[in-house]
Amino acid sequence: MDDLERLADEIADADTVVALTGAGISAPSGVPTFRGDDGVWARFDEGQFTYGRFQRDPAGFWRDRLELYETMFGDGFEPNPAHEALAALARDGHLEAILTQNTDGLHARAAETVADGDENASNQSGAELLELHGNAHRVRCVQCGRRKPNEPILERVRDGDVPPRCECGGVFKPDVVLFGEQLSPATLPRSRSLARESGVFLAIGSSLFVEPAASLPRQAAQTGGTVGIVNLEETERDRDASVVVRGDVVDLLPRLQGLVVDDEH
Ligand code: NAD
Repeated sequence: MDDLERLADEIADADTVVALTGAGISAPSGVPTFRGDDGVWARFDEGQFTYGRFQRDPAGFWRDRLELYETMFGDGFEPNPAHEALAALARDGHLEAILTQNTDGLHARAAETVADGDENASNQSGAELLELHGNAHRVRCVQCGRRKPNEPILERVRDGDVPPRCECGGVFKPDVVLFGEQLSPATLPRSRSLARESGVFLAIGSSLFVEPAASLPRQAAQTGGTVGIVNLEETERDRDASVVVRGDVVDLLPRLQGLVVDDEH
């Protein structure tokens, strides 16, 4: 039995399976990762996208943010077979929750795609989705908290209306967690309790470098969960894993999902 088959067996037998995903799951959709040779930090200065910069210089921040957003998401992008494999596991009751570091909204879109293709799907998603770092396709007013889709706001930034302001006069901020900013208060405890409850905890396409992702696999392992890491390369937390599978998510996750389905029969 190879490592992927072992992982599939554990998933089929587990009461609670939780997946944590990072930028690597969306790389095959054409969304660049942050780090690495092709990562956006090879082209942009990471220091310009901090919460401190946003507070000091919101107009300059928004001009740079527009360029970053267009580089990351500008070409249009779709969920790939790895997102769809997780959505299928969730639809079939094998995945309790997806915790994602990604802000691209692709897990929610994959859940819709998979449900659309299945006339018997009673549940649109099947899994709880926690977007740990928010959603880049929305903005939020720092004063009144109102959320809006970001495209009309980006259009205003393109026209030189910076920083974009809400009807209440407050400045809009991308609805994402910037460097130096706290995660939303409810997100962290929920992620930790899901990690601790999990019989299988999968960490997929994440370097596991940034908190809280960095500590979640260890928390899952400490409470007896099987930790499976799926990544092209070595990660910071491979030592916490029971199973490490190296390879491309678009190859591995559909195979993993197929093996779980086979295990059922
Ligand atoms: P990262 O850029 O640090 O690491 C990406 C990881 O994915 C690497 O370990 C790499 O080996 C792996 N990877 C790349 N392509 C892969 C593939 N095809 N198959 C398997 N593995 C692959 O990203 P991160 O650890 O997710 O975290 C950094 C931060 O980046 C997060 O806070 C997140 O908010 C942000 N981010 C999000 C997006 C997005 O929304 N799609 C994109 C870039 C960065």
